[in-house]
Amino acid sequence: MSTVPAVRSFAPIIGQDRALFLLERALLRPSHAYLFVGPAGSGKSTCAEAWIQALFCEHKTGCGSCAECRTLASGNHPDRHVWEPDGKNTTIDQVREIIRQADLAPYRAARQVHVLKADTLNTASVNALLKSLEEPPAGTILLLLAQSALDLLPTLVSRCQRITFGLVAPELIATWLTRTAGIDPVRARDSARRSGGRPGRALALASEPEPPATRLLENDDLVQALEEAEMLAELPLLTQLQVLDDLTDQLRDVRIWLQTGRRDGLGRPAVAEHLGERSASRAYWAEVMRRVDATRRHLAAAGAARLAWTSLACDLAAGRAVRPWSVG
Ligand SMILES: [Zn+2]
Repeated sequence: MSTVPAVRSFAPIIGQDRALFLLERALLRPSHAYLFVGPAGSGKSTCAEAWIQALFCEHKTGCGSCAECRTLASGNHPDRHVWEPDGKNTTIDQVREIIRQADLAPYRAARQVHVLKADTLNTASVNALLKSLEEPPAGTILLLLAQSALDLLPTLVSRCQRITFGLVAPELIATWLTRTAGIDPVRARDSARRSGGRPGRALALASEPEPPATRLLENDDLVQALEEAEMLAELPLLTQLQVLDDLTDQLRDVRIWLQTGRRDGLGRPAVAEHLGERSASRAYWAEVMRRVDATRRHLAAAGAARLAWTSLACDLAAGRAVRPWSVG
């Protein structure tokens, strides 16, 4: 783990120590333009917000309680400008508006900051922007965000200080999800692995509703099992069959995990690992697989959906409650 940052608003950012080091130094004497480069979801926007907060903060720490920090938190700070693309592009009109505002003095902070997505600028917009970067107006800072510098005009890249954002270790992301967002550790590990090292993506995945197949497998509460069965029986038949396919995939993952201990190639490794901890008995999981297949046959016989799901959901829940999962 990194050391505790002196800048408080940097605290929620993980795995970007080099970028934070450069940005912390930049607070003392900011340059007129920065280019944040890194994959989507790696933390560029979050970092931009945290840096602006520290820059505007009365204590230069992003304290969270001074007047500047509070105004920023309300989303109404007049010197912070975040330009979302109009459709796919940041338009030439938006760039002209940035340039017009940059010529005015900041309202309440020492500087005004404009955040924009560099990879949404077309050539005309870049050229307009370059003119203003050649003679940067005092008191204006541009924060350009891009997934890769390769797609940008070299003349734009060379006029900015580059800050690079990398992918983050899944273990670090999982801990962060649990600590800051209260995500259940199994879910956090699963989301972190599937995020490909992108904390923002991991948080989005962890916030999605859990797929019904995973809920069924992890549930050990009979009342919840009955509710789940009711809900599933109401779904279109094709969707019900899809849930059974998901269950089959997940059970295959558990089998592979128990046999080989290998994560690669598994759809949801953290869930497989977790289920393997609940029962290491291959006989038990083979029995669960048989019941999933039986449910598929019952569903094919029209009209038996509620009974079939109730039986399966309760079997799965009771399997954990009635007999110890470590016994097969
Ligand atoms: Zn503050």
